[in-house]
Amino acid sequence: MSLRAALRARIQASGPVNLEDFMDMVLGHPVFGYYPTRDPLGAQGDFTTAPEISQIFGELIGLWAADVWMKMGRPDPVLLVECGPGRGTILADAMRAARVVPEFCKAIRIHLVETSPALRAHQAHTLRDFAPVWHDRPEDLPPGPMILIANEFLDALPVRQCVRTTSGWAERHVDLDGPEDFRFVLRPADPQTIEALPAPCRAAAPGEIVEFSPAREAFAKHLSARLVRSNGAALLIDYGHASSAPGDTLQAVRAHRFAPVLKDIGNADLTAHVDFARLAEGIHPTGVSIAPIVSQGAFLTALGGAARLEALSRKNPGQAESLQSAYRRLTAPNEMGDLFKVMAVWHGLDALPEGFS
Ligand code: SAH
Repeated sequence: MSLRAALRARIQASGPVNLEDFMDMVLGHPVFGYYPTRDPLGAQGDFTTAPEISQIFGELIGLWAADVWMKMGRPDPVLLVECGPGRGTILADAMRAARVVPEFCKAIRIHLVETSPALRAHQAHTLRDFAPVWHDRPEDLPPGPMILIANEFLDALPVRQCVRTTSGWAERHVDLDGPEDFRFVLRPADPQTIEALPAPCRAAAPGEIVEFSPAREAFAKHLSARLVRSNGAALLIDYGHASSAPGDTLQAVRAHRFAPVLKDIGNADLTAHVDFARLAEGIHPTGVSIAPIVSQGAFLTALGGAARLEALSRKNPGQAESLQSAYRRLTAPNEMGDLFKVMAVWHGLDALPEGFS
């Protein structure tokens, strides 16, 4: 059995699957899924994330979290949670930087939301000094005040796509195409599905694709309800857009190159851009505070990234050039600086978190 065979069997048994079911199966199938079967990060893998590019990323997040903790009134204990921690690099760098606030380090209980056994093993090694506790879903986290980090987690949660046709809305599904292949097909969208589309996109022109993500919206809803209950803050960083607009952003990436979505099934990462406006809509009604979304470049700059870069370069003059080019990659508008957005959500802080003026 392989992932392709499992997907074929499922479509044969119950018909074409929508993109949410498709992404869930391809990325998360417990035996053959993309994440459970590999470490996808780094030069040998499929993609590289900000913490793997520069230690400054995790360090600034550590300082951000220490500041948030003080603004929360220094709760002890406090959960430091990461959703989708990859190799655990952000928290390892964050914990090193947070040593400047020893009481914070003492109060921290690290909890990780991670489904991949391969990456859990990595995290266990990287974070061996901090006794992390793992969970399959955010809903399984213990109660209490919390600071949550999620970098490139939301893009891995599945999207669905609808297409405006001349005869109304249709939803994209994946179907069989001959004995080996798969293809996209359209099926009429039911009224509930149309209702779920972002309001600014309902006037899309025929042929345009509109994405929405029940999984991300459920995450936002759970997160904000929890913050209202037990206080804390969340930092959500991902590639995406600050306002809802039509467009097909579903992408497959293998070995650092884009690949056709239906070709390398299970051997390429599948993601879609995050619609931060839509996410914020899910959060707003609950009473938590939310800062205007900023770009990753602006956020890291506001946290003092340039000063940290200078200090590191002075300490390691032989590596100054590579340190600088890594930091540029995170912040330059034509690299990750603009494409990646940062959103903070909080409840029970006595001032705005840093980085969002
Ligand atoms: N935050 C890390 C890794 C990002 S890759 C970094 O910045 O380097 C995406 C991470 O999310 C991986 O750890 C992957 O295993 C995890 N993941 C993907 N889907 C998930 C899900 N539904 N629930 C929990 N973790 C998930």
